[in-house]
Amino acid sequence: MEPSSIRRDQGYIVEPARQTEIVRDVDVLVCGGGVSGVGAALGASRAGAKTMVIERNAFLGGAATAVIMNTWNVPVARMTGVAKEIALKLAERGAGTIAGPTFPFDPEALKELSADLLREAGVEILNYTWVVDPIMEGRRIKGVVIQNKSGRQAVLARCVVDTTGDADIAFAAGADYVKGREQDSKMRPMSVLMRLGGVDVRKAVEYCRSQPKEYFTADPNFHILDIDKGLVRMSGFFHIADKARAAGELPDQIHYIRFEGVDVARGIVTANNSRVYGLDGTNAWDISRADAEARMQNRKLFAVIKKYIPGFENAYVIDSSASVGVRETRRIRGRFVLSQDDIMGKKTYDDSVARIWRHMAAGRDWHKAEGGEGAPGDAVYRTATTDLTWFEIPWRVFTPNNVDGLIVGGRVLSVTHNADMWTRGQYCCLVTGQVAGASAALAAASQGITPSTLDVPALQRALVTQGIDVGEAGRSAALQSA
Ligand SMILES: Cc1cc2nc3c(=O)[nH]c(=O)nc-3n(C[C@H](O)[C@H](O)[C@H](O)COP(=O)(O)OP(=O)(O)OC[C@H]3O[C@@H](n4cnc5c(N)ncnc54)[C@H](O)[C@@H]3O)c2cc1C
Repeated sequence: MEPSSIRRDQGYIVEPARQTEIVRDVDVLVCGGGVSGVGAALGASRAGAKTMVIERNAFLGGAATAVIMNTWNVPVARMTGVAKEIALKLAERGAGTIAGPTFPFDPEALKELSADLLREAGVEILNYTWVVDPIMEGRRIKGVVIQNKSGRQAVLARCVVDTTGDADIAFAAGADYVKGREQDSKMRPMSVLMRLGGVDVRKAVEYCRSQPKEYFTADPNFHILDIDKGLVRMSGFFHIADKARAAGELPDQIHYIRFEGVDVARGIVTANNSRVYGLDGTNAWDISRADAEARMQNRKLFAVIKKYIPGFENAYVIDSSASVGVRETRRIRGRFVLSQDDIMGKKTYDDSVARIWRHMAAGRDWHKAEGGEGAPGDAVYRTATTDLTWFEIPWRVFTPNNVDGLIVGGRVLSVTHNADMWTRGQYCCLVTGQVAGASAALAAASQGITPSTLDVPALQRALVTQGIDVGEAGRSAALQSA
């Protein structure tokens, strides 16, 4: 191979041209195997496409498994599509509680189940592999270059799905995007979560019940103490956090303590509290700093939990996020940008491809970029509540401007920072992933059709067949096109 030419004085090198082996040629290539990638792979393969998913981690699930973030903010009865199937199968495996207003599950079980479902559906899974570059012909993406232990290779595809969470592929392909908040690019904080074992959940619940209500989050979906049904989520402990902060025992960023994904029988809870502000989840140096900072916060937090919260005297750390949890980075810009007003106004669309239920409240801003989450006076975390309601998602938010052959799913849809509050939830990501996969299969099968010129009623029909609630207008369009 030609040597690289080093231009030290100009601050770069010129890499030699190289030949890169084409190792696969598929109908649908899913880049990123988080929950949206799992949904996409299932959506595509069940629509008949030869499908492959590429994931940099050793396992599937993304934030749900790598960050151990294990609660969906919607009752299982309101779920549709593969998300519902996954929730019911996790429960069947004794790894999820389906009776409550939210759905807590065991992230280890989700790793296994995701791989089982994809294999059963005939999807090829390639782990330990980074997608590093799009392969472009003009503005059309034709595949991607990957890098792994075997070296650098190319995978070609009739349609590519970007479910990287960060819109890595769309960005590298030149698609329109925004990063963070529209007005100042600030992003929600990053976190490392801890799973604690050895917890006497009953004792902790009794303690919560014995204390004044204002010591805890008022939202009944965030503070659930139904021990007999195995449904527990504890959030607040403001009095303990205030005391520990005043004593210098708790980091400045932590104003409340929150346990979710609770397995009552086994005495396991997930602590979701470290918060790192002002860093960028698409910058490798920032991610490394955030990870280290969050783990330092967790060390102090764990000591406070053990010292002050009854039921946690014998608690120990089972594990923590394998990589720092990134809540927000890039979102594409497509033919429509879904806003919080559209969502809260229950706007409906002729091209609706998903109707999503979840616990929501107008104007609620979880995980503000400024910090102060749960601090005294923060109504969002202290006194506000949510309602179980729904919103629709139009097909136009799935395809980026400027690039053909590419569909996105999960947290990178064409939505505003405020709308992302509701679309970034794992349940919604699974559904939009499935929509992306099913539509990619349709696009791959249609000669000369790009995703943005897809026959929308045909797509809605395919989604209904896959068990997705596409809303009233979507359903009647699907019926008329049948
Ligand atoms: C700390 C935290 C707490 C949260 N709390 C909740 C909650 O309580 N309830 C809820 O419903 N949601 C919650 N969320 C939001 C939710 O978890 C995420 O928005 C959702 O899981 C995103 O799913 P995704 O598949 O779009 O992206 P991700 O989960 O980020 O998955 C993307 C996948 O792509 C892979 N990938 C990325 N780039 C590349 C590349 N270049 N090459 C190969 N692979 C790549 C990643 O490894 C990852 O597996 C939380 C998120 C975080 C971070």
